[in-house]
Amino acid sequence: MSNKINIFWFRRDLRLHDNVGLSAALQAGLPVQAVFIFDKNILDKLTNKADKRVDFIHQQLEKINQELQQQGATLIVKYGNPVEIWRDWAENLPINAVYTNRDYESYGINRDAQVAQILAAKGQHFYHYKDQVVFEKREVCKADGSPYVVFTPYSKMWLNKLAASKNENGEPAALKNHETRAYFHNLRRATPRPVLGLEEMGFEKCANFPDFIPNINQIQEYEEQRNFPAVEGTTRAGMYLRFGAVSVREIAKLGLFHNETFLNEIIWRDFYAQILANFPHVETQPFRLEYEKIAWLNNTNDFEAWKAGKTGYPLVDAGMRQLNQTGFMHNRVRMVVASFLVKHLLIDWRWGEAYFAEKLLDFELASNSGGWQWAAGCGTDAAPYFRVFNPTAQQEKFDPKLKYVRQWLPEYGKANYPKPIVVHEVARVRCLAAYKLALDKDKADVAG
Ligand SMILES: Cc1cc2nc3c(=O)[nH]c(=O)nc-3n(C[C@H](O)[C@H](O)[C@H](O)COP(=O)(O)OP(=O)(O)OC[C@H]3O[C@@H](n4cnc5c(N)ncnc54)[C@H](O)[C@@H]3O)c2cc1C
Repeated sequence: MSNKINIFWFRRDLRLHDNVGLSAALQAGLPVQAVFIFDKNILDKLTNKADKRVDFIHQQLEKINQELQQQGATLIVKYGNPVEIWRDWAENLPINAVYTNRDYESYGINRDAQVAQILAAKGQHFYHYKDQVVFEKREVCKADGSPYVVFTPYSKMWLNKLAASKNENGEPAALKNHETRAYFHNLRRATPRPVLGLEEMGFEKCANFPDFIPNINQIQEYEEQRNFPAVEGTTRAGMYLRFGAVSVREIAKLGLFHNETFLNEIIWRDFYAQILANFPHVETQPFRLEYEKIAWLNNTNDFEAWKAGKTGYPLVDAGMRQLNQTGFMHNRVRMVVASFLVKHLLIDWRWGEAYFAEKLLDFELASNSGGWQWAAGCGTDAAPYFRVFNPTAQQEKFDPKLKYVRQWLPEYGKANYPKPIVVHEVARVRCLAAYKLALDKDKADVAG
């Protein structure tokens, strides 16, 4: 009898339920061994050894391992360079096939291509599935098959596609649950192994993360509450979605059944994911390349003041403090701080994007790049560049009683709170001039 096994490789899908690739692996018949690799290439770049995201991944893996062990199976966790680890496994394990869920960032795409090649050389298969998004790359397209680059028509087509996938019970097939537990008998029996310790990789435990439990009342009231940063009006699902601790299909169903505006946010997430997949240049460049010609001031003192929450604009400063202290920032405030950095301070949006990537627990390349380019006016649905948020007016509208500001900025209103580092109206005029110059230059260059 063959001793062949199938392997399920966890990456951004750290859950045992409703997991497309895991479900496929378990239904394929052979015993399934689950693995996870802490990628040294990524972890080596993290300077903060108390990174909550690494701790979150670790805690998810421990939960997964515990449940696997209850089934007489175990998770295998490695730390190193994934391509080298797969070279070793392809050589030394009796692999029939590797199952996993698709990645859409250039690093993951290249890594997977190399792994697939290594496996193929040994006659082993590499199967990958859509799990991270509801609809991917070319599933929601214009009539001529080209990708949408504007959100509203994309979202209409997304909803049409969802409705078209309804089964006889009226449930959209695109949101169906991919059963796993019914097939747990196909897990490979193995001696229990502990998850590799955080300390062994130079990291430390820093927080306790509860499981994500949706608050239905909050979702029902999402539309009225979501814009006010002092209110707990948004779900905080971001980090759980980013690491796949919840399934995007489950979250989308909450929107479908309880609140359209909330569903719309999940469509934004899919929208930015397909933009990244179809226009990979947005990973490092503006979607609209003509905005590459802006002469950024990139003043490092201004950048430091922004990072530290010391610009003298209370909503901006409160937002940056919230980010620095917790790894989260309210969406409304993200828009305001991003716009302030790019337009008031004329600092390259990529500097802000990188700072968010370092700090946000829910950091997702596609949404972060999309959000920053939107704020900078150089992205897909870009707000016209001449619309410059007034951070004071934003605070008066969305935090009128200064509740959020006072929560994160204890020195607000005291002598040690700094004076504004730029005057709004002066900065606005400076910004418009810089943008106009760049776009005029681009027109002249194109005209030859
Ligand atoms: C400059 C900037 C940078 C951003 N960077 C990120 C990022 O790195 N990762 C990230 O997930 N979101 C990012 N966003 C979008 C948004 O701010 C966050 O998704 C949201 O604040 C997370 O809070 P929540 O989980 O409570 O969201 P909720 O309001 O409860 O929304 C539920 C989920 O919908 C998705 N979502 C909501 N709004 C958006 C949006 N505008 N674009 C894409 N998806 C959305 C997220 O997955 C979110 O968790 C960014 C926005 C801006 C303006």
